[in-house]
Amino acid sequence: MTDQSPRTLHVPEGLPEKIQHYIDGEFVDSLSGATFDVLDPVSNETYVQAAAGQRDDIDRAVAAARRAFDEGPWPRMLPRARSRILNRIADLVESRDARLAELESFDSGLPITQALGQAQRAAENFRFFADLIVAQADDAYKVPGRQLNYVNRKPKGVAGLITPWNTPFMLESWKLAPALASGCTVVLKPAEFTPLSASLWADIFREAGVPDGVFNLVNGLGEEAGDALVKHEDVQLISFTGESRTGQIIFANCAPTLKGMSMELGGKSPAVVFADADLDRAIDSTLFGVFSLNGERCTAGSRILVERPVYDEFVERYAARAKRIVVGDPHDPKTEVGALVHPEHYEKVMSYVEIGKGEGRLVAGGGRPEGFETGNYVAPTVFADVKPDARIFQEEIFGPVVAITPFDTDEEALALANGVKYGLAAYIWTSNLERAHTFAQAVESGMVWLNSHNVRDLRTPFGGVKASGLGHEGGYRSLDFYSDQQAVHITLGEVHTARFGASDAA
Ligand code: NAD
Repeated sequence: MTDQSPRTLHVPEGLPEKIQHYIDGEFVDSLSGATFDVLDPVSNETYVQAAAGQRDDIDRAVAAARRAFDEGPWPRMLPRARSRILNRIADLVESRDARLAELESFDSGLPITQALGQAQRAAENFRFFADLIVAQADDAYKVPGRQLNYVNRKPKGVAGLITPWNTPFMLESWKLAPALASGCTVVLKPAEFTPLSASLWADIFREAGVPDGVFNLVNGLGEEAGDALVKHEDVQLISFTGESRTGQIIFANCAPTLKGMSMELGGKSPAVVFADADLDRAIDSTLFGVFSLNGERCTAGSRILVERPVYDEFVERYAARAKRIVVGDPHDPKTEVGALVHPEHYEKVMSYVEIGKGEGRLVAGGGRPEGFETGNYVAPTVFADVKPDARIFQEEIFGPVVAITPFDTDEEALALANGVKYGLAAYIWTSNLERAHTFAQAVESGMVWLNSHNVRDLRTPFGGVKASGLGHEGGYRSLDFYSDQQAVHITLGEVHTARFGASDAA
């Protein structure tokens, strides 16, 4: 780790005086007037108050969304018309990407260059679903001479979208774009640590021509606003991204109203490096895999399994590189790892760093970086020789901390890779094609990257298995989630049923 840009706090110009909800086309406070503090992760001081939504605010937002769904034009528009608006949204996001990145970096502590990439990805998400909704073919099946069957796709209704604080704007776009493309109306409940960028959607949508009531935003705590949204009778769907533990609570709370659910949850993904791998590329990628986005990445390859013949070399080179990672002011374009989102999360990550000292061999980092007395800064931390029963091997840390473990055989590598409760991503580094594909078939994860990292075509499924999620998003899967598919069957001739009550036997 090099030292280090000065710990100045870059405060963006034009910060809002307060963060409000956006309901039925208007910015509003909570009905109760309740607010909560929002901190920036560098000074850890409150920079704004955000409206703390309660059940009555959620009722108001859901009622607006319901009205827009039942009476408004949005669900009834031709896909082409919605697509035009979605493309305008993408243009507006693109034209504001620098501002979005500045605000997101300030609010979340993400390095600004990485926040910019996330803003651009948010625009792509809208453009992608704008195209997909017009490209979507109607399903029709013909039984020659007998029957025609077709599928009538209908938007499901009001979708509740609940999102986490890591890359908030981008993750919101990943839900908003397919929900709106499908013709649903929405209530978004963004994460309470990072509510700043979500308010920007309101202006963007208004400018793009999204009718009032189609997009509603309620800020607030998960146990209050989030809980009320999940339990609301008029909400047909919940799309949730967050911790597996929260997913379990939401799953149970969706049951009484039998809502559709999609859950993108936590991870502890393995990066498996075989001795025949291109070590230079594997090291580059596995560093990026756990230290980009401050390690606050669901698909982080936070367990690196390395085949014994290259283990010592890998650990030595990996630790040397980790020590040179530039930790610093999130606003500085040279920064590679910024400040963790919130003091509470910082305490959690630091507690794992301490646990790790008793469980593995510390070869880089291990605490606050030198010279950083304040702010949620954690030095990129590498533990080697970590045993599979260690907590830092099993539990999601969600920070710049990685566990490295040796293995001797392919079978052992697979057992280690699969030996945790999560199953989101896996990364495999080998020059043996057969081994790569064999491993990919057997590893328990929703996504696998072979000699590659996190590049994903938006048409492919995104999601986890085991404790990492339920359902898959991406491409038509997302549109299917936000739609009902009603099957219509019509005869083309004789009706093929037994003629009850028509016999002479009566
Ligand atoms: P979290 O579960 O604490 O919170 C996520 C959201 O849920 C927040 O908006 C929160 O207010 C809300 N919430 C909390 N309790 C709730 C309740 N009882 N009812 C309704 N809503 C509630 O997660 P987090 O700390 O914000 O995010 C980090 C987690 O998200 C990590 O586990 C990470 O792996 C995961 N994540 C997963 C993916 C993925 O695609 N699989 C992507 C990003 C993040």
